[in-house]
Amino acid sequence: MRPKTDNNQTVGCFGGFRLCSHLGGRKNQAQKILATPRARPASSTEQDKKVTILFHNRLRSPKKTINSILDELQPELYTLSMAIHDHPEIAFQERYARDTLIAFMRRHEFNITSEYLGLETAWRAEYSYGSGGKVIGINSEMDALKRIGHACGHNLIAASGCGIAVALKAVLETHDIPGKVILLGTPAEECGGGKILLLQRGAYDEMDFCLMSHPGPGHPHSFDIGSTTAVQTFEVEYLGTGAHAGVAPWEGINALDAAFLAYSSLSVLRQQMKPTHRSHGIVEGRDWISNVIPDNARLRWQVRAPTYDELSVLADRVRKCFEAAALATGCTVKIDQELPYYDLKNNLVLARIFSRVVQTKYGQSVTTNDSAASTDFGNVSYCVTSVAIPTEPHGGNHTPAFTKASATKEAHAAAMIATRGLALTALCILQNDELFQEMKASSAIVRST
Ligand SMILES: [Zn+2]
Ligand SMILES: [Zn+2]
Repeated sequence: MRPKTDNNQTVGCFGGFRLCSHLGGRKNQAQKILATPRARPASSTEQDKKVTILFHNRLRSPKKTINSILDELQPELYTLSMAIHDHPEIAFQERYARDTLIAFMRRHEFNITSEYLGLETAWRAEYSYGSGGKVIGINSEMDALKRIGHACGHNLIAASGCGIAVALKAVLETHDIPGKVILLGTPAEECGGGKILLLQRGAYDEMDFCLMSHPGPGHPHSFDIGSTTAVQTFEVEYLGTGAHAGVAPWEGINALDAAFLAYSSLSVLRQQMKPTHRSHGIVEGRDWISNVIPDNARLRWQVRAPTYDELSVLADRVRKCFEAAALATGCTVKIDQELPYYDLKNNLVLARIFSRVVQTKYGQSVTTNDSAASTDFGNVSYCVTSVAIPTEPHGGNHTPAFTKASATKEAHAAAMIATRGLALTALCILQNDELFQEMKASSAIVRST
């Protein structure tokens, strides 16, 4: 079957947002708006005026509700992003980010579950309106990298997730649409696979679909909806026997030699790897001294491939390099394979809606280039979009230049377009049952061109 065109996918949504179909509830809506602290005016004449303005602004169309709430929230979201950027925390230690983000979501009247599903820094913010309806999931990442801080821009993702959730809450309550918004604070994306643990424990079970954005290098005013690679991380430890390196080296079993033999084998293996595969890592050790034969050495190693199936084959070959080095040196070896991150399968229906929104409403370009980076959202794999932020030359993710770029106004502005784009994508699905069914039934994913 020929895939539908963008026009077909989005007609009825971005061809013209529906006006609120609950005009009979005008008075109730006005009272509801009035009841929020934000909207409470000083005198009754002023009150009537403000209610009328709010009523017209917020009930003209759900799209306008999203845009006006995000206009209002913009400075607050910037402060939130900068606060997290200024307090970088590594995987599973995101306590400041957790507390700051939870406080923000509480202020916006979400129900909070802290230490969600047994993970100390995971949290869930939920808002329900009416009974039944669709369930929208969103992720806010929080972790930074050791020494280089927010070099992956997760501060922008965190603020963006909050913005999407609050904007959708406003849509549900203002336009009387039943549904639920679940924002997850997801720890440990850089290592540890926080989303995979949450997935295994059921955090995503209830969601009809799930959205998030991720910053990356690229042209200003551009987005990418391509895939990411699957990655397998190995933690390898060699144990040998220490000895005096001058007096009796033959009494030693050299764990450092084992690590470097493994490193050499892995380097040789690269020649037989596909250009789309990756192999990289570091060697570490405890209490090494140049005149003592090292009795321990560790490798932290990662391999990547475009799909999880390809990754499994590559991971087996890499494992043999570790084992061979132990055999050659007489060391014992302990090999731990961490939770693999799967490649990302972006839902084609959601990706098309998002592309259409950011292209037509915000003048952005959208590409479908696959990235050699990886994410634990691959395992969740409903829909993710990447936002390109301006950065210094050669300053992509995981560099100090990107840390700097993640704190700029330009980066924030780009993240806010992603926020609007994703909130409007969710709105489109909320309003259009046919599209919702198409999205649910679709196993089609975005393919790179
Ligand atoms: Zn990241
Ligand atoms: Zn990263």
